[in-house]
Amino acid sequence: MITRSEDWKNALADTVRDPAELIELLNLPQELVEPARQAAAAFPLRVPRGFINRMKPGDSSDAVLRQILPLGAENTPLAGYSTDPVGDRSAAALPGLLHKYHGRVLLAITGACAVNCRYCFRRHFPYSAENPAQGDWQQALGYLRQHGEVNEVILSGGDPLVYDDERLAELTQRLAAIPHLQTLRIHSRLPIVLPERINDPLLTWLTGSRLQPVMVVHVNHPAELNHEATAALERLRSAGIPLLNQTVLLKGVNDHPDTLAKLSDKLFAAGVIPYYLHLLDRVQGAAHFEVPETHAIELVATLRARLAGYLVPRLVREIAGAPGKIPIT
Ligand SMILES: *Cc1c(COP(=O)(O)O)cnc(C)c1O
Ligand code: SF4
Repeated sequence: MITRSEDWKNALADTVRDPAELIELLNLPQELVEPARQAAAAFPLRVPRGFINRMKPGDSSDAVLRQILPLGAENTPLAGYSTDPVGDRSAAALPGLLHKYHGRVLLAITGACAVNCRYCFRRHFPYSAENPAQGDWQQALGYLRQHGEVNEVILSGGDPLVYDDERLAELTQRLAAIPHLQTLRIHSRLPIVLPERINDPLLTWLTGSRLQPVMVVHVNHPAELNHEATAALERLRSAGIPLLNQTVLLKGVNDHPDTLAKLSDKLFAAGVIPYYLHLLDRVQGAAHFEVPETHAIELVATLRARLAGYLVPRLVREIAGAPGKIPIT
């Protein structure tokens, strides 16, 4: 596929944000519009048109649709579901800089994403106020220079790949100039939801420094891996970038062993190793996605009995203050 290098910006600008338009495009019942509007007032709808193509028209329980369709249920506050379930706000060493785990620092370089996932634990995060890009990265880079024990920087967000290649190339160069850094990790959903983002300029900065690149993508359901997404993954893989996937375990989306097994198979066929299967972070507005821990453990046991060991993702939960993701067994 030939893509002009700036095509992705048009696709990003052209995402669907009006619930009525989404519902019309997919021939869904009109009654969904009003609750979707109400939920979208708290956390906007946002979805690329190419991602909508992977949803089945007329099916309001479609597994890809459910990830992005705002529902009335989101507006009901529930005990035990908070606005900062993983303690990111208190953990921020600097605005947007999270140093929670040994040896690696996560830079939430933007709050923006190409898609707004309804279960996202960052849906309440005050990004515009806490963005390390403000002040030209100086503070974040200064922190990294002073922390010789850090060898890996994770660009995250939001989605770091909504930034343009010039800025990302410049940031990469400045990171590569810090001698103790070795690895540049990208956490992004764009290769899946906006595959045109994986263009030559991106591959050039990502592979063009002395830092070892690695990318962690985010796929929850096998239907997300259409031809365009697998082609984008192939471009990354051909450039020598190791690819891992993280999945969030979501009720009504992927809480079935057949779905998860098929996802692992399709990921592997696309050159991606399943990395984490996350239990839902208990964020306000996402309670309807919760899968009980006991069921999650059974699901993973079924996968282990069916699949090669390297195709079974690690079931984890994030707990505020913990030194890493907590394995659930
Ligand atoms: C998840 C996460 C990481 C990465 O953890 P790995 O187990 O290395 O994938 C790093 N920092 C923060 C703040 C995180 O939330
Ligand atoms: S792409 Fe990731 S960060 Fe963005 S809304 Fe979805 S889950 Fe959240």
